[in-house]
Amino acid sequence: MPTRDFSEFDLINERYARRWGSQIIIYGRPCSSLSYEACKDYATRLHRSVDQARSRHISISGWKARTESKELITLKLIAAQLDEALRLWKDIIIVKKNRASCVPNYSPDIRDVQICDALDSLSMLEKTVEAIGIPHHERLFIDQYRDDGTECECRQCAPSADEIRQLWFTAQIAHAEVAQKTPALFERVFSELRRLATTL
Ligand SMILES: [Zn+2]
Repeated sequence: MPTRDFSEFDLINERYARRWGSQIIIYGRPCSSLSYEACKDYATRLHRSVDQARSRHISISGWKARTESKELITLKLIAAQLDEALRLWKDIIIVKKNRASCVPNYSPDIRDVQICDALDSLSMLEKTVEAIGIPHHERLFIDQYRDDGTECECRQCAPSADEIRQLWFTAQIAHAEVAQKTPALFERVFSELRRLATTL
């Protein structure tokens, strides 16, 4: 079974790794591979879906409807989160073109923390989409390497206890400023890593 090679990636926690050159992010457990260009195309299609959902809602409820459908609200939230992730991602592509981080295989860049946070929200919203059953909705996060029915065993999906402890140790130093200035963001992005590091 193929497994991912993380030697050319900078990680921040157990669920986010950005490849040098910044065009690819591996997100989630199980992991999904996201490319910047594909996400940009996906955003264009998503904005089109928002427009279609809006027209559908107007045709059902009329122009003067004061409320929006659950479908429309959810799609709009997803589009806004994705736009935010893409804005930060584009920024990081410009700054870090073809450069590895100064810390080996670890990113001390706050933008990676913010992108991870935006992807977390996106992933939660995608679960909402599944729960409310929006027709023809295309998923952004697609689990990889699952064709044969087995689970991915890459470093992100199945990290060793040592790797987790090392990541948590580095995160506390590299993102000390995040912890100090925006503790809620630090908590959202790193609490699972801390939990794993103290229980594995
Ligand atoms: Zn994996």
